[in-house]
Amino acid sequence: MTDVLLELSKNPLARKLVSSAGLPIPMPEALARPKGPATERFLEGKTVLVAGDGALGAILAGVLPRAGAKTLVGSEVLQRTIAASAEAYGRPVGSLSSLPTEGEHAEKVHALVLDGTAFESTADLKQLYTFFHEFVRSIGRSGRAVVIGRPSDTANTVEQAAVENALEGFTRSLAKEIGGKGATANLVLVEPGAEAQVPAVLRFFLSSASAFVSAQPLRVSAASGKLEDPWEAPLAGKVALVTGAARGIGEATAQALAREGARVVCLDRPDDDEATSKVARAIGGLPLHADVSDPSAAAKIVSELRKQTGGVDIVVHNAGVTRDRTLARMDEGRWDLTVDINLNAILRITQSLLDTSTLHENGRIVSLSSIAGIAGNMGQTNYAATKSGVIGFTRFLAKDLKKRGITVNAVAPGFIETRMTAAIPVVIREAGRRLSALGQGGQPEDVANTITFLATPGAAGVTGQVLRVCGGALIGA
Ligand code: NAD
Repeated sequence: MTDVLLELSKNPLARKLVSSAGLPIPMPEALARPKGPATERFLEGKTVLVAGDGALGAILAGVLPRAGAKTLVGSEVLQRTIAASAEAYGRPVGSLSSLPTEGEHAEKVHALVLDGTAFESTADLKQLYTFFHEFVRSIGRSGRAVVIGRPSDTANTVEQAAVENALEGFTRSLAKEIGGKGATANLVLVEPGAEAQVPAVLRFFLSSASAFVSAQPLRVSAASGKLEDPWEAPLAGKVALVTGAARGIGEATAQALAREGARVVCLDRPDDDEATSKVARAIGGLPLHADVSDPSAAAKIVSELRKQTGGVDIVVHNAGVTRDRTLARMDEGRWDLTVDINLNAILRITQSLLDTSTLHENGRIVSLSSIAGIAGNMGQTNYAATKSGVIGFTRFLAKDLKKRGITVNAVAPGFIETRMTAAIPVVIREAGRRLSALGQGGQPEDVANTITFLATPGAAGVTGQVLRVCGGALIGA
């Protein structure tokens, strides 16, 4: 389904016409998206501004110059921390004051990063104001703002808890202010001791893989064992199962996982065997025809995975349906089918994979929730119940599986352009697209790239999280 406004806004003449005529028409900015597999120097030729003397200085030093970024920093401490790595990778590190922000030589930068992990008092919050106030206009199209803090439940004082939580309101609001240029703002909440788990998270938020993730907090916990974090082909040697892979988000996810090196088992209903086999063939994967709501499906999946691939490392529970009706008009069949496919199947398949150790140690489980499961939606009591259920499943199982190094997360897409949203009445569809910081719908690949990030070895510190891929939607925010 074409977004007419987005298409129009790609034409510079039309953009100019609308803005000079002062017409109240939102002109969303086309988002920069990945053009191929993850590459090490994904920030080549880009400038990143860094402020805040927190616990993440050494981590930022390990990420930014290696990614090819020119780094401008706000303090001598940061300059000293980043200098050695900047030299090793041949990337300059300079001072924030050297950036021309006004006049004809004003420079646009890719990202602003503030390390607020040392914040303790309300006075520290002023750093948010000083840094972003001065440089927010320098953020370029599809740019990034990343705030790093501590989760407020790890605070030592009541004032610190307040200050740590303040970062969330700040980041969510900033996302709304910069969304018009296709730029995002996100918050990384690092538990004390989880610093080594942050690099992959930072790379995701700074890269185009997170194009449609904005205004979101993401918590990072400490993970045990040796941390693997390959920057390129991170899923080489891994086997992934994607349910509902014949089309839409599932198809895009199978493609994204394969692009990063995984061998993908593409599961969809037997009726869709042609479409599923086509997707599998195109990515060198394997088709698996099963109806996940069939009580015998879990046993079939386990036996096929053991026989064909020797088990699985990544499971993506994507198959899902809507059967909308307001509750008074909803027949029992609609309720039962939705609960069975969207929730029962996930519980049954996961249990079988775990009971038989078909899901390997250090595995990854990612399930599809929805904004409807967070905010609720008229006519979707059945669907929203299942999508909230997925969140409960995710949080509980994450704790249970931590000792096995298996992470369990959910993604909650907002408005994504698929056949599911193409079926929404036009006025509601337009509202769904525009009522977000980025002012447009997302693409299946945006959800796929987020799932792929959660599936990587480097995301070992992210578990029990619900990451929204919603462009900073107002709904449920
Ligand atoms: P889609 O309808 O395009 O694709 C869903 C796939 O799941 C289909 O290929 C379908 O055949 C398969 N499927 C359905 N029932 C199945 C069963 N019983 N067994 C095996 N496969 C089955 O939908 P989509 O938009 O790509 O959505 C994918 C997931 O994302 C769903 O869980 C959905 O609830 C969730 N989601 C989508 C959006 C959106 O905006 N599109 C928003 C929030 C959440």
